[in-house]
Amino acid sequence: PIDPWFIGGPVIKGFGRGSKVLGIPTANLAAENFSDILSDHTSGVYFGWAGLSKRGIYKMVMSIGWNPYFDNTEKTIEPWLLHGFDEDFYGEELRLVIVGYIRPEANFPSLESLIERIHEDGRIAENALDLPEYAKYKESPYLRNPL
Ligand code: ADP
Ligand code: MG
Repeated sequence: PIDPWFIGGPVIKGFGRGSKVLGIPTANLAAENFSDILSDHTSGVYFGWAGLSKRGIYKMVMSIGWNPYFDNTEKTIEPWLLHGFDEDFYGEELRLVIVGYIRPEANFPSLESLIERIHEDGRIAENALDLPEYAKYKESPYLRNPL
């Protein structure tokens, strides 16, 4: 178990690497706002709860990774909300509580194997978040932001 941590802000545009086409959209947060908290946490795949001001609270699985465009000093924060949305929510306030760690960043021999692994990460997150020790954080006031 890890100490939960809390980050949030407006959903920004990512690099549009086609994650949505792959069925894995990630609602990016601006990593530069969280450089201190991110430097305390290793790169890899985490899970937790996501609150969207006008929509609700959802399970999420998230990659924290190095961004090669920023000289290895900046990471990207890319939560995949485990819910089917009818529309995008760019610009909306997104609040995250990160409660668990799944695995470090890894290289994959093919795109297919990467996608397969992310779906497995999603299943792990789905199941873990039903356990009382993780489920309780769904009630975090931080997720229900007043904006
Ligand atoms: P970008 O590179 O701009 O982040 P993505 O392909 O990763 O583009 O798509 C992310 C966007 O898709 C989010 O900003 C959000 O508006 C929308 N979206 C729709 N469904 C989801 C979801 N289940 N999880 C995360 N984002 C989603
Ligand atoms: Mg994204």
